Amino acid sequence: MSEGEVKKSVTELSPIEVYMLLPRTNCKECGEENCMAFAVKLVNREATLDKCTELQKEEYRESRSKLEELLAPAVKEITIGVGSRAVKVGGKLVMYRHEFTYHNPTPIAIDVTDEMPLKGVYSSEEGLLERIKKIEGFTYNYIGRDLRLDMIAVRSTSNDPATFKSAVENVLKATEMPLILCTFDPNVMEAGLVVAHERRPLIYAATKDNWREMAELALMYKCPLAVFAPNDLKLLRSLSKTLLEYGVEDLLLDPGTFAGRGLSDTINNFTMIRRSACKGGDELLGFPLIGTPITAWINSEGSKEDAAWKEAYVAAMLIARYADLLIMHSLEGWVQLPVLVWRFNVYTDPRKPVSVEPGLRVFGEPDESSPLLLTTNYALTYFTVESDIKKAGVDCYLTVVDTEGISVESAVAGRYLTAEKIAEAIKESGIEKKINHKYLIIPGLAARLSGETEEELGDEWRVIVGPKDSSGIPGFLKENWPPGEGEG
Ligand code: SF4
Repeated sequence: MSEGEVKKSVTELSPIEVYMLLPRTNCKECGEENCMAFAVKLVNREATLDKCTELQKEEYRESRSKLEELLAPAVKEITIGVGSRAVKVGGKLVMYRHEFTYHNPTPIAIDVTDEMPLKGVYSSEEGLLERIKKIEGFTYNYIGRDLRLDMIAVRSTSNDPATFKSAVENVLKATEMPLILCTFDPNVMEAGLVVAHERRPLIYAATKDNWREMAELALMYKCPLAVFAPNDLKLLRSLSKTLLEYGVEDLLLDPGTFAGRGLSDTINNFTMIRRSACKGGDELLGFPLIGTPITAWINSEGSKEDAAWKEAYVAAMLIARYADLLIMHSLEGWVQLPVLVWRFNVYTDPRKPVSVEPGLRVFGEPDESSPLLLTTNYALTYFTVESDIKKAGVDCYLTVVDTEGISVESAVAGRYLTAEKIAEAIKESGIEKKINHKYLIIPGLAARLSGETEEELGDEWRVIVGPKDSSGIPGFLKENWPPGEGEG
């Protein structure tokens, strides 16, 4: 690509352009019917180039490199850590979520310091090991997904190489989570890297004063490097250029997070960097962005709650405004849960509603005369129904119909939930062997399918219209189960 030419965004890329660069032998080695089908998957980021075995041959070297360039994300994807706990940051293809799905949800790193005691001695004191255990153990199940924290940022507050090395060693022994090593002193950083480099931590950070030493460390230990230039985008870009020329390829950019009066500058800086990368094709700014809501704790004059609250809203704003990695301090549920739920929603593909596996669920200890209910596989619907049934301690069966993650009312309107689908789900579930009756309770919002469903099911099945809201299930069953003669 020539200088000044802006790279096509993912939404402008056509499968034909990609197809023309593929071998076009239709050999099916990639698992697709033909090269065109593979090209469509590549454009939709549902496949990667390495799946095309033909393309790996020497004769296609030029096409391969053109394809790599064509498909490269505007923001480079960088891996921190190793093995199954490694995190991928960046890899963003677009600026706005409505243009294309966001990839690589923003990992959240929680800080520890090298001056923390290994174990707290006083009840008010938190030890390093206790804090790591809390970070590791932080989990919340949200509509069937476990939301967790992702990384540990080891900060050197001692500025002493031996102290930092010892703390990093203790952290390495205590957890396999990916690490960020935080100090501006290259000697202290090296002490940490000597023991941690095999775990590929992020080096945080290179500045205008220490960039050469930090670059040497990044190259020597093969670790990604963060670049820090607070509120100075010109300097950040120039450092990025210098470090790339020096040979450091895996960079992350930190334009500074100002949790107080500088918050508007912070958001503007993040936005301008991402715009330059995605809309302007600026490769020097095409790296993942680090936000540090932890700065809310610096010189905080209010209460701890004030600082934590500030940290939470800065984190939420930065998740929405392009941060690819966050460093935070608060571990309280009231700070982290809204942030994690927000992250989950920002990074959920809006084209694919969150769904659960369809099929038959069993609650309590139902017998052959227990009720059979039905719902759709939209996660929010399913977990609400599940919670209402469990709360009431009802013994029953629940058939979950695959409506492609659409809720009951919309699924009926859009014909994702039809009499045919219900009948098919009932037959496939094997429920007929478990119960001695033929009554199916459908949600009140699917009432208009009752007649058709009875016809589809045939064989004397009766459909009972249940409550519109699943909170009404216990009361409904109390009054209507077992069904009397002529009901349904
Ligand atoms: S492996 Fe490559 S050449 Fe073969 S069908 Fe797939 S895309 Fe085409």
